[in-house]
Amino acid sequence: GWAYDPAADEMVGTEETYRIYEVSPNDDLSLEESLSFYPEETASAFRDAARRCLEHGEPFEIEGPMTTPKGTSRWVRVQGEARRENGTVVRMVGTVQDLTERHEIEERLREQKNWLRSITENISGGIYRSTKEGLVYANQAFLDLFGYENLDEMVDANPRSFYVNPDVRSELLRREIAEGGLDGAEVEYRRKDGSTFTGLLRSTQVTDEKGRTKYFDGVVTDISEQKAREQELKVAKQEAEEASRLKSALLANMSHEIRTPLTSIIGFAGVLRENLTGEYARYADLAYRGGERLMETLDSVLQLSKLEAGVAIPSSETMDLVSRVRDTVDLHRPQAESAEVTLHFEAASDEVIGTWGPTAVQRILSNLVGNALKFTPKGGSVTVRVEEGDGTARLSVRDTGIGISESFQPRLFDAFTQESEGLEREHEGSGLGLAIVNRLVDLLDGEIDVESTKGKGTCFTVRLPL
Ligand code: ADP
Repeated sequence: GWAYDPAADEMVGTEETYRIYEVSPNDDLSLEESLSFYPEETASAFRDAARRCLEHGEPFEIEGPMTTPKGTSRWVRVQGEARRENGTVVRMVGTVQDLTERHEIEERLREQKNWLRSITENISGGIYRSTKEGLVYANQAFLDLFGYENLDEMVDANPRSFYVNPDVRSELLRREIAEGGLDGAEVEYRRKDGSTFTGLLRSTQVTDEKGRTKYFDGVVTDISEQKAREQELKVAKQEAEEASRLKSALLANMSHEIRTPLTSIIGFAGVLRENLTGEYARYADLAYRGGERLMETLDSVLQLSKLEAGVAIPSSETMDLVSRVRDTVDLHRPQAESAEVTLHFEAASDEVIGTWGPTAVQRILSNLVGNALKFTPKGGSVTVRVEEGDGTARLSVRDTGIGISESFQPRLFDAFTQESEGLEREHEGSGLGLAIVNRLVDLLDGEIDVESTKGKGTCFTVRLPL
């Protein structure tokens, strides 16, 4: 409480008033001194109100910020009225309330409300609040989703009409109440114009203190496009699997159909080669070697398709890589001799023991050494090296051959690719060898790297886990 004596220009207050203003009861304050706690705008409102109160007896009530002499910021409400004696105003009395805490809470609440509004209006998902009876709030995105002009129009619509199957509404409500909300239900919705879409619904049940349902707050996102894409992908996958199955069947059939006659061709060409002389013997020899090449290609195609289909998983056994590699290198000595390329074998230790598929290892090495010999001109050299370290066995095939251009390297391991293609092709081959190598290394949980400089040479390194 406070009282003001206009004759003495003196303010007095109760203990609580002094506490709020943080002044001592001994400090006699004039009206102007007491107004100095307020910012100018509030102070002048007080000044006017005090004048009107004193002159005309008008009561007042003003709210605003203040700062005490000690620097504390507060929010106060001051109320005042006139006291008369014999018809003239002799005093002004009133109350002052400290509303700082309440003001702060209101302020925070207002901020949160604004925040909520900006979220709900800016988010792309449709947000709503509903009761068991129907919709009470929806953001713009929700209205857009369902094709309604404004909230009133949508609130007035029959809530069952939002669903392709109106019975779904009661089913969803039942689940929302039982489970306290829905965690991503796919719902077929109907728009105002009758068109439909698939929505993903997430909702929470809001209850009162007694646990009774008050509201359902939810978000609906249109997932029609996503569903359509999923469907397309599924169909595409089925088609791809069917195509792959057909390819395997075709390859298996064709290889059988080709292999049988080819075996006769090679066999009889071999016999003729032995028994003919002169030019005819050369023709028979060409037929024989052509047949062999065809057979090799056929085998590669078949091998790769089996590897890709996952049919041919290499069986593994404990073996010594050094001796296995030495043997395989030896098998290539005749090829090296006729190519006039020196073939070296090096091993960093006597043995490298590990568990791998021996056939797979041999096939990898044969392909790499075969290529190295094929792509190294006369007088060059090919070095095969085995070593171990860092938990891996390392197998490298280095040649001083023609090298591989950087632009071709990324496609090196693709099937049917060769650096020199078409009519300019200088080397025989199907372009399948490295694709097979790559698949096999993969199946052995290994890695393959290539380093190559055009015109200088190439080095393939295979790392196999020990
Ligand atoms: P192919 O040797 O049957 O053509 P590959 O898959 O084994 O098929 O090799 C693909 C291509 O990679 C070869 O045609 C060649 O262009 C290149 N290549 C492979 N190994 C070497 C190598 N050691 N030196 C140079 N080029 C190579």
